[in-house]
Amino acid sequence: MEEKKEESLLQQRKKALCFAPENGYDRLEEGETDRIDAYCAGYKTFLDEGKTERECVQYALSQAEAAGFRPLVPGEPLRAGDKVYWNNRGKSLLLAVIGQEDLSHGAVIGAAHIDSPRLDLKQNPLYEEKELAYCKTHYYGGIKKYQWTTIPLALHGLVVRRDGSTVTVRIGEDPGDPQFTVGDLLPHLAGDQAKKTMGSIVSAEQLNLFVGSRPFGSEAGSDRVKLAVLELLHEKYGMVEEDFLSAELMAVPAAKAVDIGLDRSVIGAYGQDDRVCAYACLKALLDLDQTPRRTAVCVLADKEEVGSLGVTGMQSAAFDVFMSDLCQSQGVALKRCYEASFCLSADVTAAYDPNFAEAYEVRNSAFFNYGVCVSKYTGARGKSGASDASAELVGQVRRVFADQGVVWQLAELGKTDQGGGGTVACYMANRNIDTIDAGVPVLSMHAPFETTAKLDCYMAYKGMRALYVCHDPA
Ligand code: MN
Ligand code: MN
Repeated sequence: MEEKKEESLLQQRKKALCFAPENGYDRLEEGETDRIDAYCAGYKTFLDEGKTERECVQYALSQAEAAGFRPLVPGEPLRAGDKVYWNNRGKSLLLAVIGQEDLSHGAVIGAAHIDSPRLDLKQNPLYEEKELAYCKTHYYGGIKKYQWTTIPLALHGLVVRRDGSTVTVRIGEDPGDPQFTVGDLLPHLAGDQAKKTMGSIVSAEQLNLFVGSRPFGSEAGSDRVKLAVLELLHEKYGMVEEDFLSAELMAVPAAKAVDIGLDRSVIGAYGQDDRVCAYACLKALLDLDQTPRRTAVCVLADKEEVGSLGVTGMQSAAFDVFMSDLCQSQGVALKRCYEASFCLSADVTAAYDPNFAEAYEVRNSAFFNYGVCVSKYTGARGKSGASDASAELVGQVRRVFADQGVVWQLAELGKTDQGGGGTVACYMANRNIDTIDAGVPVLSMHAPFETTAKLDCYMAYKGMRALYVCHDPA
């Protein structure tokens, strides 16, 4: 018979008093590894289908409609269990499952963004230089510019032709498609470049997308390569050069989402900030198998990477209009709904990177496989720009996550005074909605190829689902 070792007083008191987080893999429930893998397979499809906000909306819409959601008709009465959505100009999507209690009890909102850093084509992009054709780009969001050189890029977007007709562009994703690239200088000639600082190694105006080199016909003349490119665009999309003026074309990494590591524990893909949280919120809402007590709302927002401005950003009144339409159908004042609501601002955070340990404060960092990461505040320096969630709010989320077996951690983004970042949290909080940040830790955030841990991706979903079902401020 095995003798049971007595715990020493020190061990007992340590266990009782000290906080010692465990790796998420030591905290999983029976069968959860399979659920993680199944969830992440769906997430990778979402990443490949939605590389722009427009594509994310399209994909989310198809999923929502299959799950029984229908467009919101303002003025129409809404009953518990009704599933409605509002497509904001094809770039942002608002969805709701009407709760058992009316909206004077508030809504539980999951808000994430579906725009990601990329290279937008300028409005007059196409030119020829030394018989090579390029498109000028204007980068979108915070990037290390040098990272966007010498990788395969795809071109996505929409062109509005002079007659008003639109054409969707998606080149470089299907097998056999041509792709694009931005060049960099060979190391042999990079003597001067090597002395420059990171931001100027490759300048914004050097981020020019290579699009062709074969001249048109045999007749002598200028700009024959550019003309040949225009011929191809005209053939395929019926567009002429002037149509670039009313186009939104963006170069994004052409690589597909893949498993990383021999153990396949990690996902590598473009645009995981913040499609990893967008998918978690969307999937959690679509998977609700019972009518939640309070109305559950999912926001897929655009323009977060440039300050949440514009008509499809989180600062837009579009959200207020959607919520007031919901409220009106129940005769509830919007302000009463807001003050009773709860919002999880779902956005990624920086995972601790052992290769760049100096940028982190190890006691307050997020770690791969330690679960969805709650951040009480974001911002920079002395919490500038932060929407600092109250202790009470952290307490509510903590209780729900603990009760529902959600693996979670609490951290802030890197070392104080090292940098910082923001989310949509402050724009929700400004509306008088109790808001807290939480999301998935990411390595190489904002790089063309970002990585996340599968366990953390799944726990973001599990956490959001738990909040939709169980969040109760009382
Ligand atoms: Mn983000
Ligand atoms: Mn970001």
